[in-house]
Amino acid sequence: MSKFFTKPNLTPYTPGEQPREKLIKLNTNESPFPPPQSVIDAVSGAARSLNLYSDPQGTNLRAALASYHGVAPENITLGNGSDETLAFSFAAFGGAERPFVFPDITYGFYPVFAALFNVPYTEIPLRSDLTVASRDYVGIGKNIVLANPNAPTGIALPPGDIEQIVTSNPDNLVIIDEAYADFAGADVSAVPLTSTYSNLLVVRTFSKSRNLAGARLGYAVGNAALIADLETIRYSFNPYNINSLTLAAGAAALEENDYYAQNWAEITQTRSLTISRLRTLGLTVLPSSANFVFAKHPTISGPDLLAKLRERGILVRNLGQPRIRDWLRITIGAEEQMETLFNVLEEIK
Ligand code: PMP
Repeated sequence: MSKFFTKPNLTPYTPGEQPREKLIKLNTNESPFPPPQSVIDAVSGAARSLNLYSDPQGTNLRAALASYHGVAPENITLGNGSDETLAFSFAAFGGAERPFVFPDITYGFYPVFAALFNVPYTEIPLRSDLTVASRDYVGIGKNIVLANPNAPTGIALPPGDIEQIVTSNPDNLVIIDEAYADFAGADVSAVPLTSTYSNLLVVRTFSKSRNLAGARLGYAVGNAALIADLETIRYSFNPYNINSLTLAAGAAALEENDYYAQNWAEITQTRSLTISRLRTLGLTVLPSSANFVFAKHPTISGPDLLAKLRERGILVRNLGQPRIRDWLRITIGAEEQMETLFNVLEEIK
C-alpha cells in the first residue's frame, strides 16, 4: 500500500479465477453457450466506428430493453456489468442516514460497495436451511438489497414476498438483483412491479442468461425518478460507461429470444440432472432456480473438495465464509462437462 491511499481498510471483492490453462470452468456462472452469430456480426459491424465515442444514452439498446420489459426508456439505465449499476445504486441511495440491509449469505459485492461508499449496513442471517426469511425484511425501515434467486444458494423468493417487502417499506428503497432470474421461470421477476412501486429497483445482467459476461452489460429497471438519480451518478462518473461494441451486442441479443429460451431450457434440464446425480453421489444439494447449484459433500471439506476437483481439471467456487465453508457453488455447464464432474466425484469419494 502506498502512503497516499485513503482507504486502507477497504477489503475488495475477490472475483472467481479466470484460468489460463484449459479447465472445465464451473466457477463464475457463465453460460456454456456462445453468443448467437447475429450478436457476433453486430459487434464486428460496430467495430468499424470505434474511432467515435459510444452513445452515452444507449438509445437503441434502452429502447429495445424498454420494449422487452414493457416499460419506457426512461425506466432503464445501463451499467458496465450489473456490478456497476449496483455500485451506482449504493452511491446514489446509501448514506450515513440511509443504511442498507441484506442477508449474511448473498452476493459478496454488497458489503464491498457499502464500505466503498461509506454506507452503514446490517446482515440478516439466512434461516438454517439457507433460505431468505422474507418476514425479517417486512417493515424493516432500511434500504434493502436482495439477490433473487439468491447467490450462492440459488433459492428464489416468490414475487408475492418481494411485493410484501416493498409495500411494507414505502420510505426505503428495495433493490432486487435478478442476475439469475431468467433461469427461475417466467413468474419470478419483479420487473412488472416496478410500474406500481416507486421504491423498487430491479437490477439485471446480460452476463449469465445472454451469454455476454465478457461484454460487461447490466441495467436497472425502475421508476423514472430512481433512474434519473442513477443517471446523475453515471454522468458524474463515466457517461460512456458502455462501449459501442457492447451496445451493439446487447441490442442484437434482444432480437434472439428464441435462441436464449432454448439455452435456458437446456441449462434448467442439465440443472435437474445435476441435482439428482449429485444427490445420488451422497452430496447435499439445495434446490436451485439459477444456473448453478450449491452442494456439500458428506465427508470432504469444501476447501479440500475444491482442491481435489481442481487437480482433476474442474474449477468450482468455495466462498469461504465460515457458515458455508463446506459448500461449493457449481455452475451448470454443458451436459458433457457435468458428466465429467459426476465421474470425477465418483472417483474421489
Ligand atoms: N449479482 C449477482 C448476484 C452476481 O452473482 C453477479 C455475478 N458475479 C453480479 C450481480 C454481477 O454480474 P455482472 O457485473 O457480470 O453483471
